[in-house]
Amino acid sequence: MAQHDLNGPQPKPGILDIHAYVPGKSGPKTGKTHKLSSNESAVGASPKAVAAFEAAAGELALYPDGSAAALREAIAKRHGLKAENIVCGAGSDELLQLLAHAYLGPGDEAIYSQFGFLVYPIAISSNGATAVVAPEKNHVADVGEILARVTAKTKMVFLANPNNPTGTYLTAEQVKRLHHGLPQHVLLVLDAAYAEFVLANDYDAGVSLVEHNNNVVMTRTFSKIHGLAALRLGWAYCPPAVADVLNRIRGPFNVSLPALKAGVAAIEDQAFQAAAQAHNSKWLGWLARELQALGLEVTPSVGNFLLLHFASPAKAQEADAFLSGRGLILRRVEAYGLPAALRLSVGTEEANRAVVAALAEFLK
Ligand SMILES: *Cc1c(COP(=O)(O)O)cnc(C)c1O
Repeated sequence: MAQHDLNGPQPKPGILDIHAYVPGKSGPKTGKTHKLSSNESAVGASPKAVAAFEAAAGELALYPDGSAAALREAIAKRHGLKAENIVCGAGSDELLQLLAHAYLGPGDEAIYSQFGFLVYPIAISSNGATAVVAPEKNHVADVGEILARVTAKTKMVFLANPNNPTGTYLTAEQVKRLHHGLPQHVLLVLDAAYAEFVLANDYDAGVSLVEHNNNVVMTRTFSKIHGLAALRLGWAYCPPAVADVLNRIRGPFNVSLPALKAGVAAIEDQAFQAAAQAHNSKWLGWLARELQALGLEVTPSVGNFLLLHFASPAKAQEADAFLSGRGLILRRVEAYGLPAALRLSVGTEEANRAVVAALAEFLK
């Protein structure tokens, strides 16, 4: 880590307490590897989105439409939403950061759950606020524990639903109960990055909560089901006052023109989304069954990834090294307080079969 000279420029309080986010490994550039460490799409992007991206190459000299009107209209049409309450961003990460930037400052508290996405504490601390952690039960967020930590200083609650890296979710009823227990001035951020993969009937991404309240925001991404992680594209569905705040502080051209064009093509390609979802549900179930049959404890997941539990942190590390040696790159999750676990993204059929075969060999 760099030395910070006390006589030099000083960042705001809290920033030097942040552990920088460590992305999933990519693996060696030589030999065949399967990157299963960042929950990217196993089936890539819609060919229509790729064509739209390529066509954008002829328009790079001009600024994009800063209001992202065409993309917001396409999202609104696809999901039955009001376009004026959608704000687009360079990944949902940007929107999560902007929300924290707008609503948090020194003296404020924001709550997230124990194994929640690590972008939240970074967003909270970088604005000088205090991150408050609510314990989970069986790797599932606990509404009672979150509500028990609300104080007069609480300004925001971040909930990934489903959560990464656990893959677990709260039902629509539980999320409603969480919202119901929050004071009106606390902003509930529902990060629904994996919503499109969830087939459970009792799940809801949060649209109706956003539409009926002034303190709920839902964030979504093109990085997962749409297979456009490299483009950096996400959106937030907001109460009008929150959309107004985000539009005041975001960069005037925060989403690039190729991302806008590819995003419209992707959101309109419902057949491709259905195929991506079908691939995921087939292989998520297959992986869970095969890995459990090997004796691994697997947290039940509704996302496009699985959390695998080994007997000890050392075993998890050994398994990671063994798999890496076979070109299979998984995600270590010790930064999440899960040193004995590895996270596995659902891959292609070839990758999935290779992971199960390699773990069978490792565990025998
Ligand atoms: C992958 C992921 C995102 C998406 O981030 P982008 O910036 O849109 O790529 C958001 N939240 C969670 C919990 C994720 O796992």
